[in-house]
Amino acid sequence: MARKRGGRGSSSRTNSLDESLVSLDRSRGPLFLEKQEQSASTPGRPDGHRDPMCCRRPQNRMRITDLEAIDISRAFSEKPHLKGKLKKVLGRMGVSLTFIGDTNKAQPYTCPLLEDDTCLVHRSAKPIECLAIRDDESFSQEGRRSIERRDQLNQDLFANNWDYKSIPLMLANYLMDAEGPAVGKSGSTLRKELQKKKRRDDSDRRNTGERSR
Ligand code: SF4
Repeated sequence: MARKRGGRGSSSRTNSLDESLVSLDRSRGPLFLEKQEQSASTPGRPDGHRDPMCCRRPQNRMRITDLEAIDISRAFSEKPHLKGKLKKVLGRMGVSLTFIGDTNKAQPYTCPLLEDDTCLVHRSAKPIECLAIRDDESFSQEGRRSIERRDQLNQDLFANNWDYKSIPLMLANYLMDAEGPAVGKSGSTLRKELQKKKRRDDSDRRNTGERSR
């Protein structure tokens, strides 16, 4: 099993991790937009969901990075819609792990995050490649940009100490971690909080400006 990256450590390290998770979430935005445009012109699942067949063996060979696994694990610790889902995910993870070896190579498995044909982390912590991949397994320019951005974020945080691995393998490093980097808010929550704070600050500035006139 791969070693866990990025222990809680200093507060500046925690801040860098939070900032990276926000940036990761920001990288999803253009991909959701692209998916929306595609589903408007071609028959497909609404809201950019992958065809569930693509999330199962033998088609699914998706790999994720350490930063994405941390984001997913954090989502399970704080997102209301994921409350109570962990036990079943761990059960499915156990089954998936029996089909794959501990390697960073792409291998076929059924994703443990697929439940009732729906991705549990779709709007909360979706892996970048799950959003970027097209039906023919190619990537758009936007998709490639988001993948590069994701890799750069991992590199900046962990130097060369990060990897790509199948989702169950990568989640096994973080999902049950009660003290490490997987404890905290996910990127989508942190980003929403930042947006709210910016709106509040803007409104305070406007009010102060009106009062001083
Ligand atoms: S994370 Fe979601 S979209 Fe990606 S393989 Fe798993 S279920 Fe499918």
